[in-house]
Amino acid sequence: MLRKKANGSTNGSRMARALTGLTGGAIDRRTFLRRSGLTVGGLAGATALGGGMVRKAQAQGAATGATEMIRSVCTHCSVGCTVEAEVQNGVWTGQEPGWDSPFNLGAHCAKGASVREHAHGERRLKYPMKLVNGEWTRVSWQDAINEIGDKMLSIREESGPDSVYWLGSAKHSNEQAYLYRKFAAFWGTNNIDHQARICHSTTVAGVANTWGYGAMTNSYNDIHKSRAIFLIGGNPAEAHPVSMLHILKAKEQNNAPLIVCDPRFTRTAAHADEYVRLRSGTDVALVWGILWHIFENGWEDQEFIRQRVWGMDEIRAEVAKWNPEETERVTGVPGSQLRRVARTMANNRPGTVIWCMGGTQHTNGNNNTRAYCVLQLALGNMGVAGGGTNIFRGHDNVQGATDLGVLMDTLPGYYGLAEGSWKHWARVWQVDHDYLVGRFHDAEIMTKAGIPVSRWIDGVLEDKDNIDQPDNVRAMVLNGHAPNSQTRLTEMKTAMEKLDLLVVVDPYPTVSAVLHDRKDGAYLLPAATQFETYGSVTASNRSLQWREKVFDPLFESKVDHEIIYLFAKKFGFADEMFKNIAVNGDEPLVEDITGEFNRGMWTIGYTGQSPERLRLHMANQHTFDRTTLRANGGPADGDYYGLPWPSWGTAEMGHPGTPNLYDTSMPVAEGGLTFRARFGVERNGENLLAEGSYSVGSEIKDGYPEFTMAMLQSLGWDGDLTAEERASIEAVAGEKTNWKTDLSGGIQRVAIKHGCAPFGNAKA
Ligand code: SF4
Repeated sequence: MLRKKANGSTNGSRMARALTGLTGGAIDRRTFLRRSGLTVGGLAGATALGGGMVRKAQAQGAATGATEMIRSVCTHCSVGCTVEAEVQNGVWTGQEPGWDSPFNLGAHCAKGASVREHAHGERRLKYPMKLVNGEWTRVSWQDAINEIGDKMLSIREESGPDSVYWLGSAKHSNEQAYLYRKFAAFWGTNNIDHQARICHSTTVAGVANTWGYGAMTNSYNDIHKSRAIFLIGGNPAEAHPVSMLHILKAKEQNNAPLIVCDPRFTRTAAHADEYVRLRSGTDVALVWGILWHIFENGWEDQEFIRQRVWGMDEIRAEVAKWNPEETERVTGVPGSQLRRVARTMANNRPGTVIWCMGGTQHTNGNNNTRAYCVLQLALGNMGVAGGGTNIFRGHDNVQGATDLGVLMDTLPGYYGLAEGSWKHWARVWQVDHDYLVGRFHDAEIMTKAGIPVSRWIDGVLEDKDNIDQPDNVRAMVLNGHAPNSQTRLTEMKTAMEKLDLLVVVDPYPTVSAVLHDRKDGAYLLPAATQFETYGSVTASNRSLQWREKVFDPLFESKVDHEIIYLFAKKFGFADEMFKNIAVNGDEPLVEDITGEFNRGMWTIGYTGQSPERLRLHMANQHTFDRTTLRANGGPADGDYYGLPWPSWGTAEMGHPGTPNLYDTSMPVAEGGLTFRARFGVERNGENLLAEGSYSVGSEIKDGYPEFTMAMLQSLGWDGDLTAEERASIEAVAGEKTNWKTDLSGGIQRVAIKHGCAPFGNAKA
């Protein structure tokens, strides 16, 4: 357990102090373990004890309660390490890393080892606060919601709903993220966003437009099968420490060369076989320079490209300009080194490409991510175990919050903002589309992207004639979002001071609370951490895990979904918004929220991950293979851990999840996939569909477009639909209903029954 120090002296262990209060100081953690029968790992546990914790075990009178072990997930990065929380009498007294988790295999990094301290931190915001004449003063929740709500309603009246900005968080659970996006829709704005805008939005755009989905294609565990590792713009040794476990396993077990490209010699670079120091921002030139050697020597995978890639000839023409001299002039990397890198990647297939913020946070971030994808396509490393693009996300739920649409340019599941997308979600929410239109300033603004988080400042400071909404942003809600990682802090301070209203919702008073010199019109609302609630969270590899609640919200803090409900109630749309979600007191039922997004997220297959299935996986972690993530035996036999999306169809259909995207060596029903038919069937007379490539068991032995009801009919497969599915499809748009809008899941089920991917089979 890490201990906090003040003025050079330790405070003593909070755990020890908590226990002293509980037991008169005569119980230690070793005693806990003995009483709960948990003696395995005792030595490791002892090393984790703080000095103030270790006392001589004494004969003990009646204990004040058994230790309960509660399983949660670390909140500090996207690896998704399991935290085993030890709780006694409702107090979180200790923690262990999860030994059964296939992700962390009993390991934690320093960040994960400190989550209990983080949740119990002494600087937690204890109750709602309001700035009055420059002094933070305590207010009740009721007064805070009323005062903030009244101010927002008057801003809405004067300037329209877009003058309130709802900044959400990669710290939300999936359920909270979904609810936050839904809430913004009911308030009537697309001015909502979260941290992913700044970190991996360039990945999502670049990668989704390359082959279908904008996410990590394989997994941390799958790296065990890599024969080469090309890591660019990432420093997992510090940012995702437990992931190094998997990388180093491949390095040692497969003798896989590790190539690290970074302007800085990082702690990760210290493990590299080949360290490539490139000039910052020259990633595309670097990759084109590597491809120059690949094409020059005929090292590309010609058959893979012929069957599954469109446009490589155009790339080849561009790459021809990047000879070793030109590449060195731009990147600073000698041609001889890049030839060695190219040969290493060519000789050690499958190899994986890993990237992180160093590649994405550039003005040309989309170009960088596309270039990385092209490298893997040229080598034929996509859709294969050990290959893929392993894109390490940052926050614990930045993948989930993105998937659930806490974004200014999309609805949950990347449905976009077109009228058809709104109609889809209106059907899921069982509200009239016209009702939602009525909540916005007008129907046109509803289909336009809102302001990204990187530019909310401009929404406040820019002349309103220059912004694409009726008036400036006048109220800002920063929910679980400290803006210190953003640029333009000077302007942000000015913007914060110009606002009519600033609301910060967070477990801690973050930099948002102190950056400005406001004297009034600012509120701090205490949010609970993810350890004070439960629900699902999506790791970087697209697996969903279920956290259980470790302890009740501290002090007066509230869970995010309760805060959302309180505002919805204040604004008068709670009944409409929560018509399919039970509310206990003021807290919406988490399982009902999961169930609702399960009924709408057909695009990326967030439909099969019911709370019951996710809980089953968490309870049986030990049955999952640590490399393939597949359960061998046990109640989840055949499933992949956390049902990595897409888990197609309904939960009842039992799709096992998709461990590696676009892998045609397995049937779609068992986790296989093709590249998505994202851009139709032809371009300039050229075929965009796959040629002679299809997933194992496919009845269509070639490329095919995305599935619609009309396509099922023309194939004669519509007879496989049940009467219920058919009626549901008919109610949406008849034969125009497609795999994304069919609320019954019938189109997906039947396509998969015939071995096909619902989203088609095209070239990247
Ligand atoms: Fe937490 Fe990430 Fe460290 Fe695992 S690697 S313990 S998820 S911060």
